[in-house]
Amino acid sequence: MNFKEYIRVIENFPQPGISFKDITTLLQNGPVYKEVINDLARRLKDVEIDCVAGPEARGFVIGAPLAVALGVGFVPIRKSGKLPGETIEADYALEYGKDKLAMHKDAIAPGQRVLIADDLLATGGTIATSINLVKQLGGTVAGAAFLIELAELNGREKLGNIDIISLVTY
Ligand code: 5GP
Repeated sequence: MNFKEYIRVIENFPQPGISFKDITTLLQNGPVYKEVINDLARRLKDVEIDCVAGPEARGFVIGAPLAVALGVGFVPIRKSGKLPGETIEADYALEYGKDKLAMHKDAIAPGQRVLIADDLLATGGTIATSINLVKQLGGTVAGAAFLIELAELNGREKLGNIDIISLVTY
């Protein structure tokens, strides 16, 4: 399926010069959304995964249904101050702006194999920070899965040796 047809590109959002890939138009279409999740799950069928972790907010939209499709649990990675239990935190820089991400200390058991999922890989800052958090908790990163990859921002390079899959490249 050509998923690009269902992604709307909005120029100069949220800042001048940014060409924003809006996935809400894809998510509105049930069969296409389902095929995104099934396609990712098929590509991951031979990977040993104990849980999926995804950063808010669009990482939930891809990560949670992917976890269900793979038959494993989902762990939210959230902005600082949102999780109610004991947390660990790490700083991160976005393609535009910066913030802190947090995970519950007991979200991952040492040695668990964690797949990190998000809607889009840009500079790789969000996922590098997510990897840092998973490693701080003693988890092993089993790979990273995205609907979209912005190739010219070279996010892959920032993520080192990790296996990365993406369904659509700009
Ligand atoms: P990175 O940290 O790789 O530079 O940026 C990726 C993060 O920013 C993802 O969590 C993603 O949701 C968000 N993001 C950055 N640019 C876009 C975009 O054009 N479209 C969407 N849907 N998300 C974006």
